[in-house]
Amino acid sequence: MTRKLFVTTALPYANAAFHIGHMMEYIQADIWVRFQRMQRDGDAKREVHFVCADDTHGTPIMIAAEKEGITPQQFVAKIAAGRQQYLDGFHIGFDNWYSTDSPENVELSQGIYRKLRDAGLIVTKVVDRFYDPVKGMFLADRNIKGECPVCHAKDQYGDNCEVCGAAYQPTELVNPFSVFTGSTPIMKPSEQYFFALSDPRCYTFLKEWLNTPGRLQPEMVNKVSEWLGVAGEKLADWDISRDAPYFGIPIPDAPGKFFYVWLDAPVGYLASLKNYCGKNGIDFDALLNDPATEQVHFIGKDIVSFHLLFWPAMLNFAGHPIIDKLKVAVHGHLTVNNEKMSKSRGTGISPLRYLQLGMNPEWLRYYIGFKLNAKVEDLDFNGDDFVARVNSDLIGKYINIASRCAGFIAKKFDGKLASTLSPKAQQWIGRALTVNGAERQANIAANFDHREYGKALREIMEIADITNQYVDENKPWILAKDPEKSAELHDVCTTALILFRQLTIMLSPVLPQVATRVAEFLGDDAYAWRDTGGAAVYESMLGREIFAYNHLMQRVDAKMVEELFDRPAAVAAVAIAAPAEGIEELASEIKIDDFTKIDLRIAKIVNCEQVDGSDKLLRLTLDVGEGRLRNVFSGIKSAYQPEQLIGKLTVLVANLAPRKMKFGVSEGMVLCASAADEKADPGLYVLEPWPGAKPGMRIR
Ligand SMILES: [Zn+2]
Repeated sequence: MTRKLFVTTALPYANAAFHIGHMMEYIQADIWVRFQRMQRDGDAKREVHFVCADDTHGTPIMIAAEKEGITPQQFVAKIAAGRQQYLDGFHIGFDNWYSTDSPENVELSQGIYRKLRDAGLIVTKVVDRFYDPVKGMFLADRNIKGECPVCHAKDQYGDNCEVCGAAYQPTELVNPFSVFTGSTPIMKPSEQYFFALSDPRCYTFLKEWLNTPGRLQPEMVNKVSEWLGVAGEKLADWDISRDAPYFGIPIPDAPGKFFYVWLDAPVGYLASLKNYCGKNGIDFDALLNDPATEQVHFIGKDIVSFHLLFWPAMLNFAGHPIIDKLKVAVHGHLTVNNEKMSKSRGTGISPLRYLQLGMNPEWLRYYIGFKLNAKVEDLDFNGDDFVARVNSDLIGKYINIASRCAGFIAKKFDGKLASTLSPKAQQWIGRALTVNGAERQANIAANFDHREYGKALREIMEIADITNQYVDENKPWILAKDPEKSAELHDVCTTALILFRQLTIMLSPVLPQVATRVAEFLGDDAYAWRDTGGAAVYESMLGREIFAYNHLMQRVDAKMVEELFDRPAAVAAVAIAAPAEGIEELASEIKIDDFTKIDLRIAKIVNCEQVDGSDKLLRLTLDVGEGRLRNVFSGIKSAYQPEQLIGKLTVLVANLAPRKMKFGVSEGMVLCASAADEKADPGLYVLEPWPGAKPGMRIR
């Protein structure tokens, strides 16, 4: 039976360009897809459909569009137009890139919903929803932040925790606040629609689904089992509705209600496939109903709850035909020099800058591949390690074989490989390509198939090591000086190029561009995995005429990698001879977006008093023009008497999460200047605006 694979990566949220974490996931999935496309089941080529889409709905996109004065549709179209340069740039071979804001997704999402409703799994409840009294709107989960109720990490979104991965309702957050105004949300009653995950049928299904061998990584089975509880008692109904105004898909028969974005986002996998099938004359329903079809999702660990609880339950109870063949491959996060990156706050290395610097995308594909395994582990991009790994493996081991041998074939043998191989050469080929009496290619294939790319690439590099050892021992550059050793030279260079071709075929899921160029150089068609075993290894190579060798890949220049990171260039001071003493080093560079996240306001100090029991704090009562007063504690007792401050204007960080302190809640932070070395200059200097500033004015 020919396997049919329907492969996806997580749908990126269409409010920003890709960051390097997206590229890691796409590279991981693309390597797997390219490997599968090289396989044959019997004589038939394996069928692979690799699709993705922009995740377009929800409040953040509405707000972003509103800010730019365009419609949400125009906003997401603008983001979508920027996608292809990244995908082409890193050789990511999706068959289709689509959008969740599409007729297919409306039809499929509403269809799944109706089936869930018919199955008795949709319930309504009147619930209190968070409402921003300042902005006058209901708040989506992502518009509320607070402390995770499970691990107590600060500054987490209202739907799930990026630190511990827990999913919860925004009502469970500790000290919630609106990300728009910083105000404390109030509760307002509203009728909402729920997917009845607490129904015993869901537990029964999920328990069995999770524990089907080969479906999920063991650590994911454990994690989700914890979420199920002993008998499903931890499964809570999932609120799938949002109130208008909302950019999303209307809930059938429920005026003014829309699907929560996480309901229709995974349906977007199917919508993209359906769109692709339509464009290519493939029967979508037949493909999904085919028992040979497997559905494989590559996702990050931050969105596990949506993919391992809600999504399979939705598919199952909506009668999705291939739920039995659904697999989810979860990866960790990408850190950059050990700093955390995230989908929501992601920065670090810009993939576009990587390309603009002229860095080879296949360096990154190899480096990421080398560091990936099948576990849910974080992966660190380290600049020095990147340079060393790429230069040592790709240039020093792999490319080096061709560059040391190809020239002799062109110069001395009219571009023709030897038509026979000596027994010694055959022994070396055997030695390179077998381990413990078995062909290595089977091992390598199993490792690619199981997403153990690091193991696969290490073993491929062992073949390269043995090949280089062979070249070093036989020294073609010495043989070339002696006309009597011509046959030996021919034998050695042919053997080295046979092994180079093997390395290329095995590396081709990771280095597709190089593989294409090697195929041109050696006169091959597209490579298939079956070219790596048995007689296919060299029979077709003997006596073959090959083409001119052009250098395949440059070394990484460490300077390029330095430029990849946002290191500010040293600017020569024009008028100042030397920096002032005791001046702190500048913090790392930020973008204007980072700055605008901080809402600085003019505040009037209407009252100021000592705090009983504290030798550091003063209690400030501030008017920030909100029609209410704020209570803020500030550690400036050593520098000011309360009466010096009363009536003055100052600057407040107004959207800082409220902080519970021993003496009460502090609703913001007053800005002060101080020296790096507080002993040298113990002064604290509260900021004061020029005359004319009014309470509530924003500082930009
Ligand atoms: Zn947490």
